[in-house]
This record gives sequence, C-alpha cells and structure tokens, in this order.
Amino acid sequence: MELACLDLEGVLIPEIWIDFAERTGIDELRATTRDIPDYDELMQQRLRILRENNLGLPDIQAVIDQMAPIPGAREFIDWLRERFQVIILSDTYYEFAQPLMRQLGFPTLFCHKLEVGDDGMITDYHLRQKDPKRQSVKAFHSLNYRVIAAGDSYNDTTMLSEADAGILFKAPDNVIAEFPQFPAVHEYAELKEEFLKASQRALSL
Ligand SMILES: [Mg+2]
Repeated sequence: MELACLDLEGVLIPEIWIDFAERTGIDELRATTRDIPDYDELMQQRLRILRENNLGLPDIQAVIDQMAPIPGAREFIDWLRERFQVIILSDTYYEFAQPLMRQLGFPTLFCHKLEVGDDGMITDYHLRQKDPKRQSVKAFHSLNYRVIAAGDSYNDTTMLSEADAGILFKAPDNVIAEFPQFPAVHEYAELKEEFLKASQRALSL
C-alpha cells in the first residue's frame, strides 16, 4: 500500500502568515523562521501582534476565507486521491487551515492546534509533537505503508528523508541546492510524473 504525504503551505496553498500580513497590511506579521529562528519566540510575537490589533480567531478566519489555493492545486489533489491515500502533513493550525481545506475538498490533515478564549482571542498554541512530519512517516511505516512525500521547504526535509521517496515542489533555490538527493519540480504536471515514477504500481496519468 502506498501513501502520498504532502506539505500544505507553499505546495497547495499560499503561506498563510504572509498572505494574511498582506491582506491586513500588518507588515510585522511577515516574519518567518528565517527572521526569528526560535519558533516559540516567533509564535508568541505573532499572537501578541494579533492581540494588539484586536484580531480574534473569527476576524482571522474571515481574512483567510478570502484566500484561495494555488491555481491547479484542487485538480492536482483530486488526481492524487484517485491514485493514492493522501495525507497532508502541515505545521499550520486547524483553525487557520479550515477555510482553505474546504476549497480543497477536505483532504485528511495532520497539523497543530490553537487555544482560543471565550472572546475569540488566541491565547496559546499547541504543537502536536516534536518533528511531526518525520514522526508521521515513521508511524505510517509501522503500519506497513510505503510513503511518497512532497514539500517545499526546510521543515519538510526530515519528512522527505524518512519517506521511501521524497520530492521537492516549488522549493526555493537554496533548499534545492542543499538537498540535491531529492528531485525538484515546480509545476503540478511535473509533480504528477514524479509521483508516478516513485510509485511501485503501474499507474497512469
Ligand atoms: Mg511549506
């Protein structure tokens, strides 16, 4: 049996925080782990900025509701689900991803969770586990699934290494250069070809 594991942001949907920063005009929210390497520090800063701007979860979800998947993403995931069991492994939060998952037909999503107060303000966040993408692939292996994985960034590379086959999709040049062991493609048509190549079954387009 073969599983396809996909990253979400940068692969099927835009980077939520960056798109959100653009739509709200709050530049400070553009910071990523490239600017603040400590993830907890980065998240605490994001939650502080949201509070300062009086943005609760319903406001945030209303903005996210205006976002759309990357063009071609829905068609790609429908294609993939006809050929593989598909699981999305993401470092986003269920509460943020919900409006976009609707547009993708609600594929299975493993990610993190937010804590929200009665007033709708986000009070904290809970990571599902450490190194969650790699741990998920390990768990699928223990269930006797063969795993083909695709992602775009540093937080995907342990998943790609742990998988039976890893593919970089729409990755920046520095990631492609640092991980030459993975094939790197930029269009969904090419990604389909990579999944077919990595599969042990006789699948067709
Ligand atoms: Mg990503």
